[in-house]
Amino acid sequence: MAVAYRKIDSDIVRRVRAIIPEPKRVMTEKADLAGYSFDGSFGTYMPELVVQPKSTAEVASIVKLAYEEVIPVYPRGQSTSLSGGPLPVEGGIVLDLSRWDQKLEVYPEDLIVVVSPGVLTGNIHAAAEKVGLMYPPDPSSSAVSTIGGNLAENSGGPRGLKYGVTKDYVLGLEFVTPQGEIIRTGGRTVKNVTGYDLTKLIVGSEGTLGVITEATLQLIPKPPKTATLLAIFDDIVTSGEAISKVLTSGILPSKMEIMDQASIHAVENYEPSGLPVDAEAIILIEVDGHARTVEEEIKEAGRICEAIGAREVKIASTAVEEANLWKARKLVSPAITRVKPTKISEDATVPRSQIPAMFARLKTIREKYNVNLVVFGHAGDGNLHPNIVADKRDKEEMKRVEQAVTEIFETAIELGGTLSGEHGIGNMKAPFMEMELGKAGLQMMKLIKDSWDPKNIMNPGKIFPAPGQRLNLTEG
Ligand SMILES: Cc1cc2nc3c(=O)[nH]c(=O)nc-3n(C[C@H](O)[C@H](O)[C@H](O)COP(=O)(O)OP(=O)(O)OC[C@H]3O[C@@H](n4cnc5c(N)ncnc54)[C@H](O)[C@@H]3O)c2cc1C
Repeated sequence: MAVAYRKIDSDIVRRVRAIIPEPKRVMTEKADLAGYSFDGSFGTYMPELVVQPKSTAEVASIVKLAYEEVIPVYPRGQSTSLSGGPLPVEGGIVLDLSRWDQKLEVYPEDLIVVVSPGVLTGNIHAAAEKVGLMYPPDPSSSAVSTIGGNLAENSGGPRGLKYGVTKDYVLGLEFVTPQGEIIRTGGRTVKNVTGYDLTKLIVGSEGTLGVITEATLQLIPKPPKTATLLAIFDDIVTSGEAISKVLTSGILPSKMEIMDQASIHAVENYEPSGLPVDAEAIILIEVDGHARTVEEEIKEAGRICEAIGAREVKIASTAVEEANLWKARKLVSPAITRVKPTKISEDATVPRSQIPAMFARLKTIREKYNVNLVVFGHAGDGNLHPNIVADKRDKEEMKRVEQAVTEIFETAIELGGTLSGEHGIGNMKAPFMEMELGKAGLQMMKLIKDSWDPKNIMNPGKIFPAPGQRLNLTEG
């Protein structure tokens, strides 16, 4: 049932200003609000009020007020979400946590770091490395996304293959509930089995259960050496077979990424990096560990790729060559938006044995709907990024994109996979949730949401579909 939310009026603004006394941290002007109406996905929604809290007490007081008055609240980091996570789809208050980046405390002897929600993930990487440690989760957006956003989306990255994702490194959280109460989950120890694991429930909850105000994260020793190879393929399905073969060979790469021909072309047109434009796919493999093991493993991974049918394998011989290869991979996302202005970025994920089948199906979908489909991503863990680049002003093209996206999700589920490997559900994938979870599975999640947030004030419109909601990329 739809909730009747209270609109923001002068009384609410006055009460919010009493909580956050610095005038510039409370925004009501249209021009300011417009900057908070979009994220890295699709569609624009205007908030009624934006606040920039910088303490747990401020967050708790704002949320308490919102709960009392039934006003929607949307936590927001840097708004790089690719699934519509922070979009204020019902109006209300955006809580911009990106300015709250002051706490970044490394405790090397405990191998932990304690952070406030607005800290950029890249700054956690740098702080850990300074003391010879590593924070493994490495979303490609780490230079621009916040740890709060990473926790709420349970973000992953290239290193996920060997080291896991954000949830695997969270020891404890401080959290404001939808009622405005402050709770702590977990702690500073690696082992903690006291009661239900609320930490794991909150991670990946996409801001629908409350606001993360502090996190205690686990660090690991930084591997002393890495090595990278580039394997070039004339056939993308063969590259999928090579990925499976390397993964069952006894070598566990730290990264294993794929770029298809369209991604290679986009990068070469954007910032020439010497990639082979006539190849149908390339795979980048990184191994890490001790020097002698690394040397042997990278050669073995190369031999396997050649045996499966790679046209050529090149092992980077210097740190600069290695860095250039990974830079080219990072350029794919910005490069493809040069092709056409609208990017629909998906992260349908399949079991690793199904990677070749997924590639074959994506080839068919590209032709069937005549869409500009680019495929790259974290092939080593089955987490592909089929991206469609289009022009949202072309309604006919967007209809074909909608059909293609729907078929990508259907295919992933049919192959035993999932709607999202790391970008979350947001509002974009909500209509497909029942397809993956079934009626009862989705209802069980809804029961959890309803008991945490009976007034549905925390990030409404995300994860759970409204009755009859469908994917809409034509904006009405
Ligand atoms: C170029 C590019 C590359 C990307 N690569 C990757 C990748 O490799 N891996 C990956 O996983 N993602 C990737 N992403 C997606 C995105 O960067 C991640 O989802 C990231 O975690 C979002 O962080 P953010 O700070 O921008 O959060 P936002 O986009 O602002 O918010 C994301 C979600 O988190 C919630 N949220 C934010 N802060 C809090 C908080 N403190 N408490 C509760 N909820 C909160 C929001 O409500 C929203 O639902 C990429 C995006 C881009 C644009």
